[in-house]
Amino acid sequence: MKKLLISACLYGKKCRYDGGDNLIAELDLLRDKCTLIPVCPEVSGGLETPRNPSEIVGDRVVMNDGTDVTAEYTKGAEIALGTAIENGCEVALMKAKSPSCGCGRIYDGTFSRTLTDGDGITVRLLKENGIKVFNETQIKELLEYISEE
Ligand code: SF4
Repeated sequence: MKKLLISACLYGKKCRYDGGDNLIAELDLLRDKCTLIPVCPEVSGGLETPRNPSEIVGDRVVMNDGTDVTAEYTKGAEIALGTAIENGCEVALMKAKSPSCGCGRIYDGTFSRTLTDGDGITVRLLKENGIKVFNETQIKELLEYISEE
């Protein structure tokens, strides 16, 4: 069975910055097709839950109180990539808009809920290493991609 790297909050883990989760309704459907490998780069990078929200500002990641958390985000991305490689994950389902897991659109660094084009720190690293990434608005496309392979 294929291995799918998945953002842990989409899997139901309460690891979001505010202590919540982003559980998706399609989890059982995905479990029928793949072995799910959950990762939360922000927690594995050393951040606590709950925590202040962060955004990417230039080449840094900062919390809304100005704390620089670039090192934690970078470490979390490397751990997520390591987990993907160890488990043979060639595809990932990652949480949209997150500064770690966002794919395609992320917040623009002004903490004004404004989106811009771009990927989160972990997704950048996954893509650089050849992993195909979908977000939770693209589950239909993900299932088609998996069944085509
Ligand atoms: Fe979810 Fe990713 Fe944020 Fe963790 S880092 S809470 S997995 S979006």
